[in-house]
Amino acid sequence: MNIYDMTYDDLVDYFKTINLKSYRAKQLYDWLYVKRINNFKDITNIKKEIIEKLDNDYYFGKIEIVKRESDELVHKYLLKLGDGNTIEAVLMEHDYGKSLCISSEVGCNMGCKFCESGRIKKIRDVTAGEMVEEILVIEKDLKIRISHIVIMGIGEPFDNYNNICKFIEIVNNSNGINIGSRHITVSTCGIVPKIYEFSKFPYQVNLAISLHAPNDKLRNSLMPINKAYNLKELMESIDYYIKETNRRVTFEYIMLSDINDTYECAMELARLLKGKNCYVNLIPYNETENIGYKRSSKEKILKFYDTLKKNNISVTIRREFGSRISAACGQLKTTKEGL
Ligand code: SAH
Repeated sequence: MNIYDMTYDDLVDYFKTINLKSYRAKQLYDWLYVKRINNFKDITNIKKEIIEKLDNDYYFGKIEIVKRESDELVHKYLLKLGDGNTIEAVLMEHDYGKSLCISSEVGCNMGCKFCESGRIKKIRDVTAGEMVEEILVIEKDLKIRISHIVIMGIGEPFDNYNNICKFIEIVNNSNGINIGSRHITVSTCGIVPKIYEFSKFPYQVNLAISLHAPNDKLRNSLMPINKAYNLKELMESIDYYIKETNRRVTFEYIMLSDINDTYECAMELARLLKGKNCYVNLIPYNETENIGYKRSSKEKILKFYDTLKKNNISVTIRREFGSRISAACGQLKTTKEGL
């Protein structure tokens, strides 16, 4: 098993089975995530026989950087997993910290019409340990510490639910990578049963919903998931989530020219979200070679923004990041041959 797949509690249990105290888990997490060893033989405060046992029972995952493209404050990585599949991850240097956008699946089955990442169907889940490795390998490459995680790369996190929960548990642990739960955001296209389940998840992470349309007709035409869980069901699950967690939800809304950026859409959206503890993040659409949608004009985006504001909806416009190196939202892809 990949050692990075082990939560802190898993390691406590493991050491228990070989009659060792729980502080051994703390020691091992320190070697893995503070000292950053990648060979058990480098451990100096655990007995040789135990090191050998660890070495027999676990391996160090082998994510490799195939390529890095940088554009000032954005760095896009093509990463190769142990079995040769590739994913992408993007590091953004904000003034408030360094944020990593990680991929949760190899390919994606959600089939959103505007998104590049879904053009290759899901090949497999990214494991929790591999998501951890996305962080480790990029921190090492740039000699930095990442402060924020967004699970918004390739894949639908709620289609890989157990792994993303485990991943959050691992990176949040204060003996290890120690990224605060409020600095972690999960974005979903709206897999309703998992939103209910996530309401019970005991970490205070942020939830973002890819909404992109204020009515079923339009949303059905953009996002096939809406045919499985329509807007009414989606909104009920979000109300439940807000009630259970007391947390504010983000609605992401990409601005597609002449599709979802009209005054009527803005009014309909305002009505849909009225009174909810939420805010809307308007995302200028990133055009890709293979998909025909166009980005809304600046004026249209600002008008949409104003309409929401006037109707008392909190709203921001997403700052643009990484489009020159195709590292922006919806431009990441799984490839066989590389970039
Ligand atoms: N599957 C998850 C997370 C990945 S996508 C989800 O759907 O939320 C992250 C965000 O980028 C989503 O809101 C997605 O809808 C949006 N997106 C996809 N393609 C885009 C594009 N070309 N331009 C801008 N945003 C895009």
